[in-house]
Amino acid sequence: MSWKQELESRLKTQESLEKLFPLTADEREFFNVSEFDGSCFGFLSTRHFAALAEPATDDPIRRQFVPTAQEFVFRSYELADPLGEEMHKTATRLIHRYHDRALLLVNDECAVHCRYCFRRSFAMSGKGVLAGRELRAAASYLAKHREIKDLLLSGGDPLVLDDRPLFRVMDEVKKARPDLVVRIGTRVPGALPSRVTRGLVRGLRARSPVWIVAHFNHPRELSEAASVAIGRLVDSGIPVLSQSVLLRGVNDSPDVLDALFRGLVGLRVKPYYLFQGDLAAGTSHLRVPLERGLAIMKELRLRLSSVAMPIYAVDLPGGGGKVPLTESYFEGDDEDSWRFRSIEGRPYRYPKEK
Ligand SMILES: *Cc1c(COP(=O)(O)O)cnc(C)c1O
Ligand code: SF4
Repeated sequence: MSWKQELESRLKTQESLEKLFPLTADEREFFNVSEFDGSCFGFLSTRHFAALAEPATDDPIRRQFVPTAQEFVFRSYELADPLGEEMHKTATRLIHRYHDRALLLVNDECAVHCRYCFRRSFAMSGKGVLAGRELRAAASYLAKHREIKDLLLSGGDPLVLDDRPLFRVMDEVKKARPDLVVRIGTRVPGALPSRVTRGLVRGLRARSPVWIVAHFNHPRELSEAASVAIGRLVDSGIPVLSQSVLLRGVNDSPDVLDALFRGLVGLRVKPYYLFQGDLAAGTSHLRVPLERGLAIMKELRLRLSSVAMPIYAVDLPGGGGKVPLTESYFEGDDEDSWRFRSIEGRPYRYPKEK
């Protein structure tokens, strides 16, 4: 089957899902409500991703793509636009939040609808692929704002597009700013690995420098097919980073993240970010308390090399942007030295030099 056919034959209905495994009452309840409530973030998954799930009701893959009625539980502090992206929009699809970087919302389609998605309101907006007018507006903004050096293509997932519309966006952007470094945020290597064709890789290579930031949350996502997809990218000289979201019942344990990050490094992928869950409405059952995230990272620091360690970060609600979250090993100073704790918790000093 071609990747295009795989995309066409994605699972979209309760019936298609029930052919894989029986649903729980909570999962069925989601479908009952979503039938008459169009504001739900619909169910969608590639067969490849769904096949990674095992039948257990608390399976870590299943929790990522099978909706449940828990999504109807809203917390007062949850937000429709958790990162405040609307306020940083310049051209209609361009978000300029950080001085030297910008993010372009290329399309609104994804390989799979992740149940924790913070950009769900865009991913289901029906806005489609960036129109020519929007692309020209973004390109002219980039041409005027020379301080932007790095453009992140996101959505949706830009790699569910055909080569031609994807390369059209990249070429238009590069025409305005040949010096830009382009990053593509995508879940495709893990969720629709057949999309990473030789033609796609050649086209990306020809538009170098392009970095891929691939989204992986659980070691089981590093399937044989995903390894082949990543291997193709890296072999052709395209650097691949990963980003993950810390998710309850999916990867909120040092053992699972240890296996994930080691697995990625084994595939020549540098773990880049581990995100604290964003405050998207109806996702509290998937969020992990921040202090638990810090404790997990402290444990991982004892086990993993810095190559395998991502930056644990939170995107501050309401547009505050990303900040790194770190257990501090720095404890203060005396007159002639700085005081630290080693990762094992023992005290050490570093001299103050004049
Ligand atoms: C995450 C993000 C970036 C890229 O940030 P890095 O820390 O460089 O990965 C750029 N723009 C927006 C709006 C973002 O959310
Ligand atoms: S791939 Fe990204 S944008 Fe798409 S549903 Fe998943 S988290 Fe949201």
